[in-house]
Amino acid sequence: MAKGKTTAEDMARRESLRAALEAGGYSMTGQRAAVYDYLSGVDHHPTAEEVFLAVKRRLPKLSLATVYKNLEALVACGAVSRFTYGDGSARYDIRTDHHYHTRCLKCGKVADLDARAGDEWLRRIRPQSGFKVKDYRLELLGYCADCQP
Ligand code: ZN
Ligand code: MN
Repeated sequence: MAKGKTTAEDMARRESLRAALEAGGYSMTGQRAAVYDYLSGVDHHPTAEEVFLAVKRRLPKLSLATVYKNLEALVACGAVSRFTYGDGSARYDIRTDHHYHTRCLKCGKVADLDARAGDEWLRRIRPQSGFKVKDYRLELLGYCADCQP
């Protein structure tokens, strides 16, 4: 969220967060709003630990366990999306629309990829033995601008 003055856009976003949380059976709390605001202001898809370290600067009493719970509430009510990797690590994304990512093999940074491949190529893939496709993810692996050898 922009520092300083609260814009009409901030107010609208805050109200839609409250509505989403309440529809999911959660209440709006200062911590949930702070976690959400942090995710709204970054583009690097942080881990829970990164969210914790950043939000703790504003809310010194925050614990990592609480951040996990708040993130889960935000995911459960559809305000935030989470993507997991095979090693069990998770990253959080303020975007909940279908989009793709790049991931740096050195520093781990995940960024949005502003490209739409469309679904045409997917229709040409024929999964074996009756596998029914419901969704897919696309992630380009490589090195970010800071990590190129
Ligand atoms: Zn990198
Ligand atoms: Mn994203």
